[in-house]
Amino acid sequence: MPTVAPKEAKALLTEAQRALEAGQFEDAKRVIEDAYAQHPHDEKVLELYQQILLADGVRLSRRARDLRRDGIKALDKRDRASFSDGEDVRAAFERSIESFDKILAANPENSKALMLKAGALDRMDREGMGEEVSALFERALELHPDNEEILYARSRIMGACQHCGGSGFCGECKGSGEVSAVFMRGACPACKGSGVCTHCGLF
Ligand SMILES: [Zn+2]
Ligand SMILES: [Zn+2]
Repeated sequence: MPTVAPKEAKALLTEAQRALEAGQFEDAKRVIEDAYAQHPHDEKVLELYQQILLADGVRLSRRARDLRRDGIKALDKRDRASFSDGEDVRAAFERSIESFDKILAANPENSKALMLKAGALDRMDREGMGEEVSALFERALELHPDNEEILYARSRIMGACQHCGGSGFCGECKGSGEVSAVFMRGACPACKGSGVCTHCGLF
């Protein structure tokens, strides 16, 4: 056990909380990572460390999906279904997964981190990451067998979407965002013109 200096841990916790309250998320993250490096056995530090990194992982995976959507929007409608991610999308997903991995290194039983990491991997690369995604859900359910949230997330992420067959594009307009009305083309009502499946949230 390293020697714990409670005052110092407390001061760092206060600093991290203040940064959070001020909306300075990057600062809060930096301070809590520093606090955890110095006081890995302090319960309160460990707790806030996990909370902040969870929020960070979620934020980064959302950012990756926003970047992906922007990339798709920039493509010609005919080319959308065969899009491939830019490097910025992959990098944001990788940073998101890194945050979940940090939590799991500190607490391998954190069910939310296991579940959210599985979700981020699935969204980053559904085909390539399938095995790892299913292994994460298996591990999460081994640790927390009756956790409804995990069971629900598993069925939602691992089953093919009924509406788009897992492509992530709107099943009604096949990603174009438009449908033919009598004499003109209009925005697809199912996806409100976005071209994206609104059921599985792949994008
Ligand atoms: Zn549509
Ligand atoms: Zn879908």
